[in-house]
Amino acid sequence: MMRKVESIKGMLVVDKTKRGGQDVSSWRIYVPSNDPEKCTGCMLCAMYCPEAAIVANEEGKPEVDMRFCKGCGVCANECPTKSMKMVRED
Ligand code: SF4
Ligand code: SF4
Repeated sequence: MMRKVESIKGMLVVDKTKRGGQDVSSWRIYVPSNDPEKCTGCMLCAMYCPEAAIVANEEGKPEVDMRFCKGCGVCANECPTKSMKMVRED
């Protein structure tokens, strides 16, 4: 079955309502935190996120849907400017 997609800066990502597939929010210890001053909006973090939990907001910067974020840290690891960092979730 074809999944609905939306476009972010030329990339195709799974539609918001179908992202992630399951709520993995209870898995994580760390959460991604982005510094918008250092972030270029390249959206590489979204491309690499295994849960497709990241979409662009109105400013073209990444926004994480925390329902689908498992805290793996791939987004922070792939961020070329290191604006995305993992921080301990309270
Ligand atoms: S990879 Fe880093 S610089 Fe690029 S959009 Fe994501 S947080 Fe911003
Ligand atoms: S920590 Fe992992 S699951 Fe969460 S947004 Fe980053 S890459 Fe996606």
